[in-house]
This record gives sequence, C-alpha cells and structure tokens, in this order.
Amino acid sequence: MKMKALKRVFIHVTVVACLAWSAVAGASEAGSGVSADEALAKLMAGNKEFIAGNTDGLDHKSSPSVRKDLAVNGQKPYAIIVDCSDSRAVPEIIFDKGLGEVFVIRVAGNVVAPHELGSIEYALEHLGAKLVMVLGHSKCGAVTATYNYTEGSIESPNLMSLVDSIMPAVTAAKAHGGDLEEAITENAKLVAEELEKKSAIIKEFVESKGAKIVPAKYDLYTGAVSILH
Ligand SMILES: [Zn+2]
Repeated sequence: MKMKALKRVFIHVTVVACLAWSAVAGASEAGSGVSADEALAKLMAGNKEFIAGNTDGLDHKSSPSVRKDLAVNGQKPYAIIVDCSDSRAVPEIIFDKGLGEVFVIRVAGNVVAPHELGSIEYALEHLGAKLVMVLGHSKCGAVTATYNYTEGSIESPNLMSLVDSIMPAVTAAKAHGGDLEEAITENAKLVAEELEKKSAIIKEFVESKGAKIVPAKYDLYTGAVSILH
C-alpha cells in the first residue's frame, strides 16, 4: 500500500513537472524567431522566385512530412498578410510559401474591421509573427466598385460596408486627380496606417515588440510585389 501511494505521488510530481516545463519551453520558444525585416526579405525573395517561375512552395514546402510536423508541433508563421480575396492574388503562391509560413487574412479590398483586426492581434500575440503586410493588387474589383460607385448603385448592405471602408482611399486619390490604380495604392497605404489607430495591441507590438507594418501592391500581370512608401 505504501509503495503504491508513493508511486502515485511520484507520477503526479513527474506529470506536474513535465507540464510546467512544457509551459516554460512553449513560452520561450514562442514564434518563429524571424524578425520583421527578415520576414519581409523572405517574402520578397519568394516573390522573385514566383516571377521567374521557380516556385516550389506547393511541393516540398507543403509535403506530407511538413504537414504532419506542423499538426503535431504547431504553427509559427513569420508574416501576417492582409490580402484581397481576388483569386489571382494568392499570397502563398505569389510569395512561394508553403504550409505554416504565412498567416493570411483575406477580404475583398484588403480592408480591416474588428474581425480582421482581431485576427492580426491573435497572430502577433499568440503565434509570434512580427511582420504585417497589407497587400493591394492592380485591377482590384472591390476598389473599382468603390471608384465607380454612385448614390444607390449598390443595394446590398454587406457590399456597401466594403465600399464604405474603401471610400476614404478613393476620395483621397480622386482629390488629386488620381486614377483607379492610385486609389488601389492609396487604399493599401491607408489600411496599413489605420492598423495602429484601430488596435491598441497592434500599436503596442509596433512600438515596443519589434513588429512592423508594410503596405504593398501586387501587379497581376508582371507578378511583382512592390513595397509602397
Ligand atoms: Zn481586389
């Protein structure tokens, strides 16, 4: 009886110690360890490969062994990308990335509302990603719809909420005679600028935890991603 009780105590102590250790190890190993600048360099290098047609993101970087490793050990994406839903602007493909590398938030017009902001906050706080890219693209349908909008021309309140979010960029572009492509550029820049104003957590990560926000634009025809300044 005595031995059994002792054994039980030993097992209990061992389990508690293991749990405590994994919690500490998990905390110290949170995230990929890739800085915002390194993450940006990785994305741009992948985009070069995509332009040249040398992509392998969907081959060895998304192999069954990578898939199983990520399922068992968890994800540590190094970049967060806020991207349009356009079927031609697929981040994993245009940056030549495999499973587990990029945390992607896609919505028509690459705008942000509470759901998108919450998704960014989650990836910063819990997954350790440091780079936030807001990625617009040429010939964006959502920005085109906003650019051409006239009072009452859109009936759906859901579509209208997208137009409302994109409208400030269109208004700003039109104010200096800008065309549709300038409105698209302006939209990516404005959304990037707004992130810190709309989220105290994003602001904190940018100010003191090494996060960076970068607006960018993807050219559907050339395949090139340009950083917007
Ligand atoms: Zn679009």
